[in-house]
Amino acid sequence: MRRKTKMIHGGITGDEKTGAVSVPIYQVSTYKQESAGNHSGFEYSRTGNPTRHGLETVIADLENGKAGFAFGSGMAAITSVMMLFDAGDHVLLTDDVYGGSYRLMTKVLNRFQLHHTFVDTSNSELVETSITESTKALYIETPTNPLLKITDIKRMSEIAKKHNLLLIVDNTFATPYWQQPLDLGADIVLHSATKYIGGHSDVVAGLVAVREDELADRIHFIQNSVGAVLGPQDSWLLMRGIKTLALRMEAIEANTKKLVAFLQEHPNVTKVYYPGLKEHHGHHIAATQSAGFGGMISFDVGSEEAAAKLLSRVQFFTLAESLGAVESLISIPAKMTHASIPADRRNELGITDGLIRISVGIEDVEDLVDDLKQALE
Ligand SMILES: *Cc1c(COP(=O)(O)O)cnc(C)c1O
Repeated sequence: MRRKTKMIHGGITGDEKTGAVSVPIYQVSTYKQESAGNHSGFEYSRTGNPTRHGLETVIADLENGKAGFAFGSGMAAITSVMMLFDAGDHVLLTDDVYGGSYRLMTKVLNRFQLHHTFVDTSNSELVETSITESTKALYIETPTNPLLKITDIKRMSEIAKKHNLLLIVDNTFATPYWQQPLDLGADIVLHSATKYIGGHSDVVAGLVAVREDELADRIHFIQNSVGAVLGPQDSWLLMRGIKTLALRMEAIEANTKKLVAFLQEHPNVTKVYYPGLKEHHGHHIAATQSAGFGGMISFDVGSEEAAAKLLSRVQFFTLAESLGAVESLISIPAKMTHASIPADRRNELGITDGLIRISVGIEDVEDLVDDLKQALE
């Protein structure tokens, strides 16, 4: 099955009992057993629910994994994956990971002696020299948020293999439509499905897919033990979102390319970040490991004042956190998504006060260009 077909015919495509062509919402917590311990495969909905199972099967298919898992949020997925490790273990992470992942490692999991180092994973020598005796995993995000930095997934998988580490990839920005990290040697891929996979700004959810059966058993054990599972209604909404993921990603990327071209020419824009640009750091790696460059653009307008003015003038870009929806969203990372990262660290990373991030939607691109044009004047 090719990518687009998988979004429609992958996973479980309906209900055998009734012929329903979508997986029904099994709003149920427990299941009748024939005799004690003798059940039809489902016993209690934390352990397994047929609607959630439908979603978990399709994400496994989309990521070419052995199994998939659905969680109550992207952070619940990330936290559950981190539960694979023991006190005293060490994880190496991309230095500009999602703010919530940074907070999880530095303010929560540090209390359980899970150690971390943030490193520029676009520099593979730096990654290798940062590995210690207790390092157990390499956790990367590519492209990153908001500067869209690119890490070479295949190169990281070689390093991970050599040092016996798990390679975990946050694939939220690329989506399984553009990028399949498991095929490039990753062990675990995860998503904030709140973003492109859901795609309509109406669900908070997280997804995980794994390459090996042994890891699948361990993640399922943690999912069932910790219990941060996704409910059946939200699971159904994600399956519905996945059906149009290919169409949405194509439309979003087409719009994005036009907006990038416009921003690059604009005199009030000092810098544009987009992996599809030849001069973007890591462009050639992105071009090799992904089938597309996605729908996120960051650009610098030089100052906090200029950024605030632009935000107050745009009409079709909704000022909001989050990304990946059908409607275009705009944000100032330093004030919003990355506010939980200390100011000096933000500056170190290049997340200036004049940096604006847009998540391009599927509106008519002429309206989006006109809107930015008037707002930038
Ligand atoms: C939003 C996001 C998360 C967290 O997901 P939630 O669904 O908000 O918990 C993790 N990683 C990335 C890259 C994100 O954009």
